[in-house]
Amino acid sequence: MHQAPPSLSTWARHISPSPTLAVDAKAKALQAAGEDVCGFAAGEPDFDTPDHIKEACIAALRAGKTKYAPTPGIEPLRQAIAAKYAADYGLKVAPSQVIVSPGGKFSCYLAILATCSPGDEVIIPAPFWVSYPEMVKLAGAVPKFVLADDTTGFRLTPAMVEAAITPKTKLLILNSPSNPTGAVYTRAELEAIVAVALKHNLYLMSDEIYEHLIYDGLAFASPATFSAEAAARTIIVSGFSKTYAMTGWRLGTTVAPAPIAKAIAELQSQMSSNATTFAQYGALAALTEKEKTSASLAQMLTAFDRRRKFLHAELNKIPGISCLLAQGAFYLFPNISSFGLTSEDFCTRLLDQQKVAAVHGSAFGAEGYLRLSYATSDAIIAKGVTRLAAFCAGLKK
Ligand SMILES: *Cc1c(COP(=O)(O)O)cnc(C)c1O
Repeated sequence: MHQAPPSLSTWARHISPSPTLAVDAKAKALQAAGEDVCGFAAGEPDFDTPDHIKEACIAALRAGKTKYAPTPGIEPLRQAIAAKYAADYGLKVAPSQVIVSPGGKFSCYLAILATCSPGDEVIIPAPFWVSYPEMVKLAGAVPKFVLADDTTGFRLTPAMVEAAITPKTKLLILNSPSNPTGAVYTRAELEAIVAVALKHNLYLMSDEIYEHLIYDGLAFASPATFSAEAAARTIIVSGFSKTYAMTGWRLGTTVAPAPIAKAIAELQSQMSSNATTFAQYGALAALTEKEKTSASLAQMLTAFDRRRKFLHAELNKIPGISCLLAQGAFYLFPNISSFGLTSEDFCTRLLDQQKVAAVHGSAFGAEGYLRLSYATSDAIIAKGVTRLAAFCAGLKK
């Protein structure tokens, strides 16, 4: 064997592995080695899945729900998801437009694969969720980033979107509430952006995974509810991970116009078959045992809101840091540009010196910021922000 092995694929050589998962893994490894780490890196609720959801899954397992399910999902779950959109947003969708997939991340990828061909351009607002650009590239399409920094509340204006559109633009990705910034668009703001997308005959992928994690009484707005025209161009991506603390269950959803739903189901039939059968029965309980679910969600939201306000106030006390009060998800995205370090350098030193794990803004396409997840205990947040203040004071000297 004297020959070098054949090269790995273009996809394998050019994929950037998820930096958020990497930072979180590094923090967990330090912790396992006995270090006292304050982790702000994880993108998942620190709460356990509510009991009634677990019980429904266990009952399904015991009842032998251990075989393949229909590719697009078990029928009662598709019906319950359709009913949820009608009840929550007055959006009428047929259960056949609902596809249940192994995780919201995979739902996003299927939505992109169903709409984008090689060479098509996809507009991705930055700061962006780390997986969008990689998924677009895996589809052979081309990501086009439009940066909205803290001067516009991390929200794009219609003019910014319009300036990025070319004859090759096929898809606009929207994510409100946003990971990583927590920014939430108002209905009027989204309507204006959707109008631009419709004028140019684009598809929209609206990633609504944080639809229920909104504070200050702000209303969630979904583009598909704006008009029949908007509904005919929009793929809604959501899932169970964030709202119901079910990240490990791997259950995501798409709701799409019929031809796209069909394409998503066909792609899924060859790429993964169905989402885990018995897990879907747990998800069904999340949607049908409404009182128990709302009680758990309300408890989680109260904790998130308290931590959000505390962390925001503490961050703004630190000389050199400025931070907007985000109104959704469970992230804050403070500006650290005054320290003159790259965000990656800042985060590496912060973890090494103070054992505080945060993800650098450049991972999300926005240099000069950090992403801090407050989906962790009040005690860790208090300790972590004290350490961050000490770290920043050291940099200022
Ligand atoms: C967490 C997340 C998802 C999907 O997560 P899954 O665990 O794969 O369901 C999708 N989009 C954004 C922006 C997220 O933060």
